[in-house]
Amino acid sequence: MADTMRLKGKVAIITGGTSGIGLAVAKLFAKEGAKVVLAARNEAAGAQAVAEVTQGGGEAIFVSCDVTKASDCQEVLRVAIEHFGKVDLLFNNSGIIFRNKDVVETSEEEWASSIGVMLTGTFLMSHFVIPEMARGGGGSIINNSSIYGLIGGKGVAAYCAAKGGVTNLTRAMAIDHAPQNIRVNCICPGSVETPLLRQEMEECGGLEKMRPVFAAQHPLNRIASPEEVANAVLFLASDESSYVTGVALSVDGGRAIW
Ligand code: NAD
Repeated sequence: MADTMRLKGKVAIITGGTSGIGLAVAKLFAKEGAKVVLAARNEAAGAQAVAEVTQGGGEAIFVSCDVTKASDCQEVLRVAIEHFGKVDLLFNNSGIIFRNKDVVETSEEEWASSIGVMLTGTFLMSHFVIPEMARGGGGSIINNSSIYGLIGGKGVAAYCAAKGGVTNLTRAMAIDHAPQNIRVNCICPGSVETPLLRQEMEECGGLEKMRPVFAAQHPLNRIASPEEVANAVLFLASDESSYVTGVALSVDGGRAIW
């Protein structure tokens, strides 16, 4: 493999890495020389994702993990160290969404799982991984926020609350862990063609009807591919962004400035 690989020798943990944006990032990281730990819940999807990520010659393992559980997050770190000896990169990516729900319509369970998966999950993985990164001399954490971590949205109250938390947690972590040479940034995607977005479009009136409606919410008038988002994550993971920390990088076809 060429020496021009941008993540050569790095070890990356990716939560929710078995589908959508997480899987696209896993493939790109592996292609750029990283060893990848996929942390997600579904074993069958995990085996399939590992096969896809390693197809081009990269290294990857799957660890079963519910990011809302501290013991699972600790286990991901343990297995990562056992297999690869260190952790340089963490992509906190797991997410869920409940559509068409204001705070009155949102159940306590939906609220708790939204905050649990996206905000607590980001906290827990970072809580366990940061000391290990610090021991290794530093690292880069990328949190997957959303345009809804920057602006409000209709019928996505719990999601907005969780993603707003993720965006500002990113800034707090960037300040706290800069002395340990750990950079912390988040990406704020608009609509990206993944299982999560397809579920949203189904719930809003059906795929064929809603795809152009969702596309038209973005000045670029289209939905992003997971690979386009992965390119932004790669930039934040690589040394090319060595002086970038605490940033919320919109990857949204201009959606949040409209
Ligand atoms: P996706 O459904 O393909 O991926 C979400 C992943 O999170 C899945 O692999 C799922 O299994 C995992 N997950 C959910 N609950 C989990 C838990 N408790 N523990 C561990 N893993 C869990 O959808 P995606 O669009 O690729 O979503 C990835 C991230 O991108 C999410 O945080 C989402 O909010 C964010 N995002 C997506 C869009 C979009 O339009 N698709 C836009 C902005 C932000």
